[in-house]
Amino acid sequence: MCSARTNPNAPARPYRASAGEGYPSSPYTEEDSPIPSEASSLSLLLQLLPLSARTALSIIEDAGGEAWCVGGYVRDALLGRPIHDVDLATNLSWTTVADAFKQAGWKTVETGVKHGTITVINEGEPFEITTYRCDGTYSDGRHPDTVTPASTIEEDLRRRDFTMNALAYHPERGLIDPFGGLEDLQHGVLRCVGDPMTRFSEDALRILRACRFASQLGVAIDPATFEAMVASKNLLRKVSGERIYRELERFVCGDYVHDALMTCVDVLAFVLPELVAMKDCPQVTKYHIYDVLEHTAWVCQHTPPEPLQRWCALFHDMGKPAAAFFEGDVEHFYGHAAVSVSLAEGIMHRLPFPAWLRRDVPVIVRAHDDVVPANPRAVRRMLGRLSGRTDLFEALCDIKRADALSQAPFCAPRADTAEELRGLLHQILEDQAAFSVKQLAINGRDIMALGVEPGPAVGAVLESCLDAVIDEQVPNEREALIDFAQGQLA
Ligand code: ATP
Ligand code: MG
Repeated sequence: MCSARTNPNAPARPYRASAGEGYPSSPYTEEDSPIPSEASSLSLLLQLLPLSARTALSIIEDAGGEAWCVGGYVRDALLGRPIHDVDLATNLSWTTVADAFKQAGWKTVETGVKHGTITVINEGEPFEITTYRCDGTYSDGRHPDTVTPASTIEEDLRRRDFTMNALAYHPERGLIDPFGGLEDLQHGVLRCVGDPMTRFSEDALRILRACRFASQLGVAIDPATFEAMVASKNLLRKVSGERIYRELERFVCGDYVHDALMTCVDVLAFVLPELVAMKDCPQVTKYHIYDVLEHTAWVCQHTPPEPLQRWCALFHDMGKPAAAFFEGDVEHFYGHAAVSVSLAEGIMHRLPFPAWLRRDVPVIVRAHDDVVPANPRAVRRMLGRLSGRTDLFEALCDIKRADALSQAPFCAPRADTAEELRGLLHQILEDQAAFSVKQLAINGRDIMALGVEPGPAVGAVLESCLDAVIDEQVPNEREALIDFAQGQLA
């Protein structure tokens, strides 16, 4: 299996908010796997199937069709993971399906009728229903040239990407598993349906889906599948930036991101070539026990699984390989945060990152290594530098905490400092203490009334007032601040 190196100090486990709670083991290394035996699989699937999905199956059957639950629902239910949607497959055409659901009073949306998919909605709950299909040849490495209806569910399952995604379930007829998906799930193995090279050459997105499932589910990638991923990675050039971004975001937010990043780095390097230098960059300092890549993988693992934190974690030390220099036997990385910012900005413009991440990620990456002493003044100053954004301050605490937990063991107590900073932030918010000029008891008009010309000078005086308030030289009161500003102008 292609599993990652084992870390003796900090096992790669789902993120937990409190470092003290410990990390539960990977689902596949425990003696009692979380995945039930075949017999109890069926009762689990039955138990978890939403009532409206059963109704949807009945509507198709009452219209003379056959229907199965397929895809993510079957996989996630068997893994005991939260279920977010139930996809159905049927032998009826999409037009017949649409008519049947309209008659039953459901809303229908023609989401992908070219490929035989419609979405039906019952009281806000959507279900994707797709007609059994066989995909024709793939000449563009992304889409089948033709899609033809298939007559059986088994044929339909054959076109699906991985064995664990090629299971079909029906509450009365049970499980259909032509490719050994249940056994692969039980062993935590991600394996292509059919020949992996062929499957990746048909649709290169599957390469990134494999990385993403490894990160989300903690599964190991079957060796033949993994070899084909590496051999086919250059086909990712055919995949659109939007699709790449969608998969990468799910990848970085996965519960098992450390193991998946260490395993999949050479594949991901095709879309994130910046990872290559991180892999080859040892950190010869007493503060570190990992190279930049593995340190980064741990920082990702130790941050909450939110896009802002995880992208910042991935990028925070990306500039280290370029900033590294030796002084005697010791390596330094002065100024690496600025290099990380520029690499992150490059990636975020190369791939279609949302505007809010393009705006917020550089702010945190730039500040990640700044020393913020655990006192209210320092916290208020840092808040000022973050334009008063308390959400960014919290994210910075998340990164600082994770960074401390991912260095040499003697650095781990710094995680407590990050938590102290968070506590100070909450205290500041409770006390309503000022940390931005907007919160001052005076404003620009007051400064102009003192004779300052409109323009940047007004802001500069307000800034010095804020400094004085943060330093507790002046209370945040109108009279006192006007006196102080007048003194500054004298
Ligand atoms: P999730 O919904 O968590 O992303 P999923 O497995 O349900 O996971 P979807 O994109 O919703 O993924 O796809 C539903 C099913 O369609 C998959 O389980 C798989 O069987 C099939 N599928 C999706 N994308 C592909 C693909 N690129 N190649 C082959 N089969 C695919
Ligand atoms: Mg799905």
